[in-house]
Amino acid sequence: MIILSAGVKPESKIAEDAGIALNQRKSIIVNESMETSVKGIYAVGDAVEIIDYITGNKGFIPLAGPANKQGRIAADNICGLNSKYTGTQGSSIIKIFDMAVASTGINEKNATMAGLNYEKIFLYPFSHATYYPGAFPIFMKVIFEKESGRILGAQAAGFDGVAKTIDIIATAIRFKGAAKDLTDLELCYAPPFSSAKSPVNMAGYMIENIITGKLKLFHWHDVKNLPRDGSIQLLDVRTAPEVSRGSIEGFMHIELDTLRNNLDKLNQAKPVYVSCQSGLRSYIACMMLKNKGYDCYNLSGGYNIYSSILA
Ligand SMILES: Cc1cc2nc3c(=O)[nH]c(=O)nc-3n(C[C@H](O)[C@H](O)[C@H](O)COP(=O)(O)OP(=O)(O)OC[C@H]3O[C@@H](n4cnc5c(N)ncnc54)[C@H](O)[C@@H]3O)c2cc1C
Repeated sequence: MIILSAGVKPESKIAEDAGIALNQRKSIIVNESMETSVKGIYAVGDAVEIIDYITGNKGFIPLAGPANKQGRIAADNICGLNSKYTGTQGSSIIKIFDMAVASTGINEKNATMAGLNYEKIFLYPFSHATYYPGAFPIFMKVIFEKESGRILGAQAAGFDGVAKTIDIIATAIRFKGAAKDLTDLELCYAPPFSSAKSPVNMAGYMIENIITGKLKLFHWHDVKNLPRDGSIQLLDVRTAPEVSRGSIEGFMHIELDTLRNNLDKLNQAKPVYVSCQSGLRSYIACMMLKNKGYDCYNLSGGYNIYSSILA
């Protein structure tokens, strides 16, 4: 196997030689009409500096869709029409053997650099109803602004439904959509194609639960810093066979189905940090415990994400 990771640099020498302003990384600086620093000279595509649609920061995202849009906008302006480029959000997809990996909007690194107060969810919805053959989980991460629920970015990987999922979220981002907009989307459903709650609706429901305070999260990278001194309770609600295949150190095991009958094992005065395989059963456990007066936190993405990174 050969993995070539070459990177991309703008080829802007012709502009530089013509005295057109470039930025530090040699991208051609243009305004929203795609006009360079020299009046009447336009530039588009991989060689130009773009505005990131999400953060408003200047950046470099060399993709074919933006290049084509910019080409039309430059042509409009050359012909006297008033067209503006509104920014690049970086929607992209790659095929890796039978898998697809796609992304839109910003990732955590960009969100941090832009000083955004963000949160993230991990989820693994199936590409269509599981009772119809050929459904595969889509591994999704969605990044959103904490207070408003505005969707900032999403990444997905899987064998089916990846492009559709990310394209829908890309559309929502373009229209400045928030979690509620994802839950409100009414998308095509029949068993071979999706689920009655589509992967995008599911992401919206999950984010809504967080921004409305119904559910509190903790993440795989928080696990190592959780105190093991008895001041909090760590709970794994998976089945015994699942736990036997690997678990997080220090987590007490009470299967979800027996949790109601084992509440005496949990101290109501201490917070409970709950994990399961994907984050779904631990969410149910959290809701159950919250109703009984416990302060509960759910491991986002569950043991799946934790073990794929740390185990
Ligand atoms: C292998 C590969 C796969 C890709 N896959 C995707 C993908 O799946 N999806 C996606 O969105 N993007 C993809 N891209 C990126 C996409 O191709 C570019 O973003 C897009 O082509 C940029 O368009 P452009 O017009 O800026 O540049 P280009 O398409 O590179 O066109 C620039 C043209 O200018 C010519 N030129 C350069 N210098 C001079 C000069 N001095 N005088 C005259 N002519 C000159 C070049 O020969 C070239 O024809 C891929 C790129 C590569 C290399």
